[in-house]
Amino acid sequence: MSGQLRPDGSLRHLLTLEDLPRALIERLLERAQSLVRPLGERPPVSRALAGCTVANLFTEPSTRTRVSFELAAKRLGADVVNLEVQLSSRVKGESMLDTVYTLQSLHVDALVIRDAEMGVPGTVAANVAAHVSVLSAGEAHVAHPTQGLLDALTVRQHKPNLEAIAIAIVGDIRHSRVARSALHVFRALGVRDVRIVAPPVLMPEPQEFAGCSRHTSLESGLKDADVVMMLRIQKERMAQAELPDADRYYASYGLTPERLALARPDAIVMHPQPMNRGIEIASAVADGPQSVIRDQVRNGVAVRMAVLSEVLAWRSAA
Ligand code: ASP
Repeated sequence: MSGQLRPDGSLRHLLTLEDLPRALIERLLERAQSLVRPLGERPPVSRALAGCTVANLFTEPSTRTRVSFELAAKRLGADVVNLEVQLSSRVKGESMLDTVYTLQSLHVDALVIRDAEMGVPGTVAANVAAHVSVLSAGEAHVAHPTQGLLDALTVRQHKPNLEAIAIAIVGDIRHSRVARSALHVFRALGVRDVRIVAPPVLMPEPQEFAGCSRHTSLESGLKDADVVMMLRIQKERMAQAELPDADRYYASYGLTPERLALARPDAIVMHPQPMNRGIEIASAVADGPQSVIRDQVRNGVAVRMAVLSEVLAWRSAA
């Protein structure tokens, strides 16, 4: 996707991590890392984005992404509006772009958009005024760039030598924007061994995930992995008839402590959440010593602060 960068190389929109320069990704991760604090300590706050306005425009459910974008903006001193899409004019037939133009007229500087329809963040980005930035908070099955960045930050905190590690992404790869953005960022950072593990019906098309090894057996995919990233079955992107049976899925693909023992002893376990305990992951693993799932949530705010600072930096300097 072109058009995410300004002529000076700074980030204007964040719609996908595909083809984003490695140096820019590293810069965002370093800035995010500097904003991470241990739980119990007060998070960093500033007035760097005072006078800027960030709008959250979510037409699909979200807990962590929406709340962390809101907290990130507020901790940088920006004003935040959260559009309750069910209550908005979109249900009265107003088009997404008319809603966006309304927000633009209200001096919104950054639009954070989650939509179930492919292409919506890109269409908005192509139509907003030159001073407005668009940040994808999840586009259909296609991309979830801030999730990819927070996943990369979490992996780096535990496994700094990314070129030497093996990452197994397990579950509904076919419908997962999390897996796609993860692959883009891991590739950009030089991870060589990325495995995708799924039953045949949840595998992506053969032309996708090029260079990843494919495993229909969880046991073979987990062998000596350093990072195990579990995914939820994206029920909302499948017809009822396609849904795997939960018990059978758990029997073959659920991450239990016994199966996790096939990975390296110091392997970390990740999950973007929401989790379905007892379907893709056992509680003993989700809450166990190798889980970094709660670190991912904490890192999400830092990553979104880094991204907002990057796209709105020109405003604070003006
Ligand atoms: N929260 C993530 C997403 O929005 C993962 C999921 O929903 O399964 O894609």
